[in-house]
Amino acid sequence: MGILDKIGFQKIKDGLTKTRNNLIDKISNLLNTSRTIDERFFTDLEEILIGADVGVWMTSELISKLKERVKIEKLTQPEELKFALKDELEKILKSPFDSQNFDPFSIPEDRKPFVIMIVGVNGVGKTTTVGKLAYNFKSRGKKVLIGAGDTFRAAANEQLEIWAKRAGVDIIQQQKGSDPGAVAFDTVKSALARDIDIVLIDTAGRLHTKTNLMEELKKVKRVIQKLIPRAPDEIWLVLDATIGQNSIQQARQFHQALGITGLIITKLDGTAKGGVVFAIANELKIPVKFIGVGENIDDLQPFDPESFINALFEK
Ligand code: GDP
Repeated sequence: MGILDKIGFQKIKDGLTKTRNNLIDKISNLLNTSRTIDERFFTDLEEILIGADVGVWMTSELISKLKERVKIEKLTQPEELKFALKDELEKILKSPFDSQNFDPFSIPEDRKPFVIMIVGVNGVGKTTTVGKLAYNFKSRGKKVLIGAGDTFRAAANEQLEIWAKRAGVDIIQQQKGSDPGAVAFDTVKSALARDIDIVLIDTAGRLHTKTNLMEELKKVKRVIQKLIPRAPDEIWLVLDATIGQNSIQQARQFHQALGITGLIITKLDGTAKGGVVFAIANELKIPVKFIGVGENIDDLQPFDPESFINALFEK
């Protein structure tokens, strides 16, 4: 079961229902009705994969790997092919990780406070995610502090305050319109003074405004480094699964500017095209740390490739 408990696994399973119906059920159906594994079979499989937003590029890679396995391993039975497919999908999800430790809660003891910057464009679920992360770390016994760095949106800060209360953690805020760098500085300084374990810095996510978002985020990063040169320890990008392949382009921009160390993919419960998780892992080579499968505080779940595949394929 990996890093998830029973409830967490069930939440992911439920959250993936739409994608399961659209992807796995169709594949099972194809396997059960196909007499032979031929070109026609692969064309149909290709169509299903693309329809679930696995992406054209990844789909063609996947199909050629499967063809190779069919040939080498002399696969003929639907169940064998299903196993091969699961195996290849799991490999893709694992490929961006540089170790076998998939637990995003395992934080090195000697990095205190451990500073995590959370970035992403407005609407992806960033504020909600910061709240959920705070709750998750707190319930694992960590002392958490939130920095409300999205000083542009008053509403976002009010939201964040509500989430912080719900999670039972403190939050550092300044007036609307104040410098996000100053908020980050205050937060990290306060964390150093208060023996905090985890600092979560929320950031702005507006697009198409006069000041360049990426420059602002780079500045926040530099400001944090004035207090802790090795920090931020992680920069996690929040992506909305419902926007599909566009999220890959979004991620590239953030990665180029900041060097993203992990991804959080939200709203998987709201889409039948959760296959995008594979395209994202395959193209960006950045590990997925968490997935969002609902709006409640306990709907953000740690991601580990094996459980994700099992939850997706399990009836
Ligand atoms: P922000 O603009 O990026 O800060 O986005 P918010 O945190 O305000 O979230 C935007 C909307 O997405 C809110 O209505 C959230 O409840 C919703 N949301 C966030 N994560 C999830 C998720 O995993 N599943 C679902 N269904 N909704 C989510």
